[in-house]
Amino acid sequence: MDENDWKYHGEGNKSLVVSHIQHSRVLRLLKYPSEDAENTHQTTEQAFQHILNIVDYSRNVMKPLLGEKYVHSGEVVKLPLDFVRKLSLKIQQERPELRCDKVMDTFSGCGLCLPNLTHLSPCHFGDRRPPLCVEIKPKCGFLPFSRHVTKECKRKVCRFCMHQHFKLANGKWNRLSRYCPLDLFSGNKQRMYIAIKNLLEEPQNNLKIFKGGELIYSCRDDAKQQPDLNELVQHLWPYFHHSNGHQSSKTVLSEFIQVICSALLSPGDSNRSGEQRKMQLSDSRVHCEASPLHREHLRNGSPGLPKDCVLAKILQAQMMDNLDIEGLYPLYKRVEQHLEEFPNDRNTLQIDGPYDLSFLEKVKTCPEDDGTVEYAVAKVLQYRVAMTAKDCSIMITFAPCGEDEKLQPHLEIQPTKSRFASSVSILDLDPKPYESVPHQYKLDTKIVNYYLKSTITTQ
Ligand code: ATP
Ligand code: ZN
Ligand code: MG
Ligand code: MG
Repeated sequence: MDENDWKYHGEGNKSLVVSHIQHSRVLRLLKYPSEDAENTHQTTEQAFQHILNIVDYSRNVMKPLLGEKYVHSGEVVKLPLDFVRKLSLKIQQERPELRCDKVMDTFSGCGLCLPNLTHLSPCHFGDRRPPLCVEIKPKCGFLPFSRHVTKECKRKVCRFCMHQHFKLANGKWNRLSRYCPLDLFSGNKQRMYIAIKNLLEEPQNNLKIFKGGELIYSCRDDAKQQPDLNELVQHLWPYFHHSNGHQSSKTVLSEFIQVICSALLSPGDSNRSGEQRKMQLSDSRVHCEASPLHREHLRNGSPGLPKDCVLAKILQAQMMDNLDIEGLYPLYKRVEQHLEEFPNDRNTLQIDGPYDLSFLEKVKTCPEDDGTVEYAVAKVLQYRVAMTAKDCSIMITFAPCGEDEKLQPHLEIQPTKSRFASSVSILDLDPKPYESVPHQYKLDTKIVNYYLKSTITTQ
């Protein structure tokens, strides 16, 4: 292993990713808060088990729920410590400042090897233009419908939009995003178009764009500055240029957004039979009052999502949170009480895994509340699966097929479908810890209270 074969690719809150300079592979390494790095670093055995859990959870739990074709679980690898240390030094200066509160794990030598999803796997022939990849972290796409919800505003304004106000107040971001997940998940092309446009204007950590595996568009490290859409258009222009005339920036962006929309709605292989089944939510759940959309876009109602498209799959998993954190928290406390009395049951109840077939069975069953701890555990597990689905990212990778000659100059709207080869995947499917439930409960209260306070004073 030579650190010079790998380069910095990106990072989130939990892990740092490097990509191989030749092969289409990435290594995902865990991160720790820098103040803990010295004293609480895990033993190699613990770290190995932790990463094994991540792979098992992705492979045995999330993949069956989200669909085989979208999920790539990767494999655990043992890396020479010398390699990891050199790599960590090499990439340090490329890391964004806002992520440097954590350090890369250089103690365990364990990592996760995954396909590089910013590349297109079956090579596209006959075109020199590198693939484009759009990464979207969509967040929660529905309004809670649980009878346990106590604050009326949670039924009208989505979590993402409320959270924006809280993040602005805490200095996490400097501007409000106009993106609303309910628009993206609506299945209504106009609403989806506007949602993606809003992501482009204020990407925060919900949108990244790669070209040939290189990050070309994301939020600036210096959060005060907005990323440059004109620069993006320059990158996109060669992909959306037609021989029949000059393309304005607006047309280029608009065609780009349409390609993203089609990929998000693409029903996948399992649905070739023509007639498309839809996933439909009741109308009250699909519109967020904080979304800046005009009423006229909503008048047509919502067409729903094609049943097996990536958005429908993610939304289905998110909706396993059907009690809302307010209804879930008492059940968490029921589990806690039980574990206090019978600490050994932690293993048999599979609180921390193993993430195997029987774990998936527990998640898939919808038991009635019979007052048992088994019911409470099943609901907590479902909630954790939903949290993972609310935090994952979609990767849409596409490249021209090299069939531009076949374009028909007399057609005003070219059939974009046939011009690009594309692939859609879901990444970042880590298990959310059982212990995070109380934190989620407190955070929910804080976000809602802050939203009520801040919107009342501005009205
Ligand atoms: P979060 O803070 O969102 O939970 P995380 O720390 O769990 O993030 P990931 O989202 O898995 O980390 O990875 C960080 C970034 O690395 C991703 O946003 C993506 O841009 C990139 N990345 C991760 N896995 C891959 C992959 N298989 N191929 C290409 N890029 C990847
Ligand atoms: Zn919203
Ligand atoms: Mg992520
Ligand atoms: Mg993550």
